[in-house]
Amino acid sequence: MGRISFDSIASDVRFLNPMKDFAEDVQTLQIRKDPLLGDTSVFNPGLKDKAQIFFGSCDRELIERLVEDTAKTCFFCGEAVHKSTPRFTPDFSSEGRIRVGEALLFPNLFSLGTYHPVIRLCDAHFLELSEFTPDLLQNGFLAARKFIHIAYAKDPEVAYAAVTANYLFPAGASLVHPHLQMIATPVPYSYQARMLKALSSWQEENGTSYFDDLAAEEKGGPRYIGKTGGWQWLTPFSPLGNNEVMAIHDDLGDLDALSDDDLNNLSSGIAKVLAYYETLGHLSYNYALYSVRQGREDGSFRALLKIITRQNLYANYRNDDYFLQKLLQSELIITPPEELAENLRSCFQT
Ligand SMILES: [Zn+2]
Repeated sequence: MGRISFDSIASDVRFLNPMKDFAEDVQTLQIRKDPLLGDTSVFNPGLKDKAQIFFGSCDRELIERLVEDTAKTCFFCGEAVHKSTPRFTPDFSSEGRIRVGEALLFPNLFSLGTYHPVIRLCDAHFLELSEFTPDLLQNGFLAARKFIHIAYAKDPEVAYAAVTANYLFPAGASLVHPHLQMIATPVPYSYQARMLKALSSWQEENGTSYFDDLAAEEKGGPRYIGKTGGWQWLTPFSPLGNNEVMAIHDDLGDLDALSDDDLNNLSSGIAKVLAYYETLGHLSYNYALYSVRQGREDGSFRALLKIITRQNLYANYRNDDYFLQKLLQSELIITPPEELAENLRSCFQT
């Protein structure tokens, strides 16, 4: 098993603080590096418990108005989803769209990948985070798996996929109605490409899968949350986003190979994380489930889910994706991953 290094450096910042009558103040930052990719994140203990300043509080009246107004013209509500959403060409799918329970998968009007279907998750136009039930989430993933199965059969080139969620405008969604998007392409997009390259190097150097090593090393540690079936849940040492939680599958890396139970267990974990986010006052989130077609990598990749919270929704909210994230590709840590994991652990014991 390859030994994983969780590297960080401490950096002292000295300044004369106007809030302390211009006395000299010292803040000790911690700059962390992701053990696989080296991606940095920074924690300033002075900002701990200051989530309110960064993310604000959801304006419930504004959200109510937004939900009401957007429901009137929603393409995903009621009959509109049948009348106004695209259909696949008959050579791809004779049914035109893929349905699993309330989930309905169809092509995007403006694709951002070789394949880019959208999955309307449910009939409801708006859900609180605790209302994303495992069944509802599972229907979305089952539809995604059906799609990738067809895409693989039709197209030997397509290999790299991500099933993603943007919930509400701060997360980049253009529609309020709960939905997923899926990108499937012959080339991995940047983040997945960097991950696959680093995984191959790890495999070559250590003869093991980095993800297996990571799960083994983190198990029982301060960032370990728990297990749902074949998925290990933990918080990443150097997160990509706020309140990030990740799940790693024990063996498989291809969505098409995941069983109904795998998707059910994944969905049950996501539902627990979302319900916990609700207790923190969050409403907007993103997640991605990354997948690689069997035989297209060296066996080191594992199906991986990453889920993060986004900015809360209120008038004139400040975007949480600024120079640090966009142009320096680093994240600000408000709640340390170890504390987040500790709080989530009890949610995974039920
Ligand atoms: Zn709707």
